[in-house]
Amino acid sequence: MTGESQIPPSGLVCPFEKLRPSQLIRDDAFFMSLAFNLAVDAWRIDEVPIGAIIERGGEIIAAAHNEVERTGDPTAHAEILAITQASKKIGDWRLNDCTLYVTKEPCPMCSGASIMSRLGRVVYAWGDPKMGCMGGATELHSLPKLNHRVTVTRGILEDPCREILQAYFVMKRGKDLAN
Ligand SMILES: [Zn+2]
Repeated sequence: MTGESQIPPSGLVCPFEKLRPSQLIRDDAFFMSLAFNLAVDAWRIDEVPIGAIIERGGEIIAAAHNEVERTGDPTAHAEILAITQASKKIGDWRLNDCTLYVTKEPCPMCSGASIMSRLGRVVYAWGDPKMGCMGGATELHSLPKLNHRVTVTRGILEDPCREILQAYFVMKRGKDLAN
């Protein structure tokens, strides 16, 4: 359908198609669909399929996916890259009037970055009971002495965002075992 079924060097072809949300309704599901599409892009270049979008006043000011493998940088998570992009774009490190959409609950590092950048709102698809620090394993944003309060919404487009990540790890494990 898309004609974009590139075969990444690993040979692990992404079985997920990109979503095509209506441009007319710019709700949480719309922006999360775009984050999901970035996760598909990530898989196509052998990165862990997690995508992030930052929205401000209805406009997308940042879009990124994980780039840890390509850059060899363990901090190159989708959220960190998107936060850096957004700050550059608006010329301010404070992102109070911005919303971060990410396909998986932010890890300790990205939850911390969300607080430090004073993001107004974080929306994530599925919770991570192991490493998630915005409700899954713990709630970093609820530290009692924090001045900044970030609003968290969870469960938007949860199924596809979880399925793509789980499928990626199942395929990768299968390949690693075969080698
Ligand atoms: Zn992270």
